[in-house]
Amino acid sequence: MSRPAPRIVMKFGGTSVADLDRIRAVAEKVRKQVEAGCEVAVVVSAMSGVTNQLVGYCQSLSPLHDAREYDAVVATGEQVTSGLLAIALQTIGIDARSWLGWQIPLRTDAAHGKARIASIDGETLAARMRAGQVPVIAGFQGIAADGRVTTLGRGGSDTSAVAIAAAIGADRCDIYTDVDGIYTTDPRIVARARKLDKITYEEMLELASVGAKVLQTRSVELAMKERVRVQVLSSFVDGPAPSEGNLPGSLVVDEDEIVEKELVAGIAYSRDEAKLSVRRIPDRPGIAAAIFGPLTAAHVNVDMIVQSTGADGLTNMTFTTSKSDLARAIQSLESSRDVIQYGELVTDDDVVKISVVGIGMRSHAGVANLMFRTLSDRNINIQVISTSEIKVSVLIAAEYTELAVRALHTAYGLDAA
Ligand code: ADP
Ligand code: ASP
Ligand code: MG
Repeated sequence: MSRPAPRIVMKFGGTSVADLDRIRAVAEKVRKQVEAGCEVAVVVSAMSGVTNQLVGYCQSLSPLHDAREYDAVVATGEQVTSGLLAIALQTIGIDARSWLGWQIPLRTDAAHGKARIASIDGETLAARMRAGQVPVIAGFQGIAADGRVTTLGRGGSDTSAVAIAAAIGADRCDIYTDVDGIYTTDPRIVARARKLDKITYEEMLELASVGAKVLQTRSVELAMKERVRVQVLSSFVDGPAPSEGNLPGSLVVDEDEIVEKELVAGIAYSRDEAKLSVRRIPDRPGIAAAIFGPLTAAHVNVDMIVQSTGADGLTNMTFTTSKSDLARAIQSLESSRDVIQYGELVTDDDVVKISVVGIGMRSHAGVANLMFRTLSDRNINIQVISTSEIKVSVLIAAEYTELAVRALHTAYGLDAA
């Protein structure tokens, strides 16, 4: 019996489908992969800039808009590109059909704006693929149990792609984007960033969660859990369709597949940070719960936290949230002011979080200290610090982003030769 055809998911991000010429170029890439004898499913993002525009429309009408209607609006970007790419494929003789989240169906929970995938019916897609058709799936979107459209959070098409790959038992999920792989840091801000042939799921997960937006965090989480092989590669480079013997991008793999383990895999930054300081609060048991309880109830995600040493029975609590949660955090703190009894609330969203990530940190001391020394040598003040088993993060003033990332990249020996 002949071996089954390799099954590949090809995901194309916003810049890869930015206009009709790009969509034609993507159709050519898909054609090559089909002609190489593969069964192919495609997942697309909205054209670049479209999702931002749609989000902007919602925000302009009402900053605290209904999340169900937000999803109804922002999910449309992907509907357009899935239809257009299906047409482009049909035009060059490839049998293709567009699929929206609800048509698959890709079922999610009801957390509108950041829904999590609950289940996917992969069988219908797989049957079409066996019959030689290419499904062109609108990424980013799904359907909740009540039938309403949901979206998976910014960058969520990566997660759609990995989830589809798991559901149809794909051999590989290729994430096509505007850089040719995963680098030691964002190649757009550090020219000497080095491309990694391979990176572990764990390191990629940590890098994504602290801001390396090349892959959405949940996509990496899911790939790790479902053992999906993920490759990140460029849609802007011409070449033969990738095959197991010829993978031009970066692969996300298990730790034991990496021969040369480095102390630090990469450096990430996140500008989506806001700092809140609740000052002159009573230094008493229960004060943290009094602050963070209402924030949790208001669905504010808190990240780094420091409580400074108290004096005269008073203390300060400083913490960070995403910029988009700042307004809700302020609202929550102001409405619980009588309970917390703080003197002053000070906020600052002109900050950036810089993180150094590497599984080598588990067995080597001094990684954090090198970070602190490097920043202090540049006179960059650290406002908040947090650490995990394989990561150290610091919050600094946003104006030092590039300087700090470049200096750290050099200090950890990551610069390309
Ligand atoms: P897409 O629209 O294809 O989903 P994204 O903009 O979401 O693309 O992600 C690709 C971008 O991620 C790159 O243009 C790059 O600037 C950025 N990036 C951040 N960190 C890294 C990294 N470590 N390696 C590669 N790219 C990175
Ligand atoms: N278009 C959506 C966004 O910009 C999803 C994605 O591109 O992955 O967040
Ligand atoms: Mg993306």
